Amino acid sequence: MVTSEEKNQELLRDTCVEVDLGRIAYNMKQIREMAGPEVAIMPVIKANGYGHGAAAIAPTLIDEGAAYLAVATLTEALELKAANMSWPVFIMGHTPDRLLHHVVDKDITQTIFSFEQAELLNELSGKADKRTKVHIKVDTGFHRLGKVPSDDFADEVCRINELPDLEVEGIFTHLALTGDAENEEQFRLFTDFVSLLEDRGCSFRYKHLADSIACVDFPEYRLNMIRPGALIYGMVGYHKGHLDVKQAMTFKTAISQLHYISRGEGVSYDYLWKAERDSIIATLPFGYADGYPRNLRDKGYVIINGVKVPLVGVICMDQCMADVTDVPDVCEGMEAVIYGDGTDGSMTIAEASALAGTNKNDIIARISARPPRVYIK
Ligand SMILES: *Cc1c(COP(=O)(O)O)cnc(C)c1O
Repeated sequence: MVTSEEKNQELLRDTCVEVDLGRIAYNMKQIREMAGPEVAIMPVIKANGYGHGAAAIAPTLIDEGAAYLAVATLTEALELKAANMSWPVFIMGHTPDRLLHHVVDKDITQTIFSFEQAELLNELSGKADKRTKVHIKVDTGFHRLGKVPSDDFADEVCRINELPDLEVEGIFTHLALTGDAENEEQFRLFTDFVSLLEDRGCSFRYKHLADSIACVDFPEYRLNMIRPGALIYGMVGYHKGHLDVKQAMTFKTAISQLHYISRGEGVSYDYLWKAERDSIIATLPFGYADGYPRNLRDKGYVIINGVKVPLVGVICMDQCMADVTDVPDVCEGMEAVIYGDGTDGSMTIAEASALAGTNKNDIIARISARPPRVYIK
């Protein structure tokens, strides 16, 4: 990935993702104010920080009081630790046994849900003269990772808790967000199980289950730690509560070429679009390999010189075409906004997700490594 962190660094491509670090900081402040001083914030920066560049946004999050940085995989954790060993990094996913030594080496905090794996991690930690931190994952109904609360699992957690070279620092679960009744059931299962473990002498510095939606909609679910992802980037998904956050990402490009075509001519593969009038067609150097949804054919648009222009024809891997006949003074090199915050009429991430038939996180996380990231304050 090319990261144009320095202002003067050469931008090697017109198609780029501009990330406003001021907005990420603003969103963190809003979350912190909402949650209050008793609740630790663990921003989720898996999938390269939902496309924003995990290592590049991490310093802003730490400056704004993040207690931890959460990722999904060991590879993501190692990338962050390579950038800065002092960042506290938590892996929410499973790490296979054969790779656990990396967790120990790099002082990463690992999700654990079996005694066998905890024992191995304990052994590796002892050999390295370290005490590795773990958070226990409880399955309260999602059936993705963790074990269902039971007497057996309680025994297992208590045994893990006794391992000398592990620190059981936290316990967590994840909501399926099916509905109020199901949320409440998951919340109750989790808190009852935690109480039972506490009665048996376990203690957990962090207890957490709330993602972006849950931490806004259900204040009581914040416990003493929250795991917001989407909110950090300014994506709004809540239904009951409210928090003012701002979209941090702008996805832009510039016209590579203009074509002056006659009425009746086709554009792109299979000529699925044909000009109904003599037209000016702009080639834009972005495509589905950059993470733009290929199914936005006949739906996608960009903003060029203040005008909303439709993408026409099949979206190719690296390029697509737009009908710019109505754009005043259109010229090659002119900027096109692919996704913006909407204030300029640009397509927001929310609109892109609705048009593509997916969710907002998918739209931003799928933006590939190819477009350079540019950071502004
Ligand atoms: C991705 C993820 C989150 C963050 O989800 P958002 O909806 O983006 O806030 C929180 N917890 C876990 C376990 C996750 O996998």
